[in-house]
Amino acid sequence: MGYDYDSDNIFAKILRGEIPNDTVLETAHSLAFNDIGPQAPVHVLVLPKGAYVTWDHFAAEASAEEVMDFTRAIHAVIEKLGLDPASGGGGYRLIMNTGPDGGQEVAHLHAHILGGKDIGKMVSDG
Ligand code: AMP
Repeated sequence: MGYDYDSDNIFAKILRGEIPNDTVLETAHSLAFNDIGPQAPVHVLVLPKGAYVTWDHFAAEASAEEVMDFTRAIHAVIEKLGLDPASGGGGYRLIMNTGPDGGQEVAHLHAHILGGKDIGKMVSDG
């Protein structure tokens, strides 16, 4: 078991500049870009640039600087897109799918920010 990072995953290729992306925001340790298959009017992915498979991997092994950067990068995207209710926005949903039961398709940690409409139920039936 353990955290086995596959450097051929599609987000690793994006981070190496081998595949283009629609960048929303970039920081020293994080990259945010629009999801290629948006499921809401706003659907942005935020990634740490480091080779972390899951949230657990990142939370356990990332440096304090990386953790701070990723946390603030997510906030910066939310601010940039005007989603924060404290700033008059309509709100959003923040999701990190993890592993098979979590429906994770790409094995590089990423947070989904979904907004721009009522996102609906948190978990679908079935
Ligand atoms: P997850 O199921 O949480 O692993 O989410 C993977 C997400 O990556 C999906 O929402 C895909 O639409 C998105 N995705 C896959 N390839 C790309 C790409 N090349 N650029 C942007 N988003 C992508």
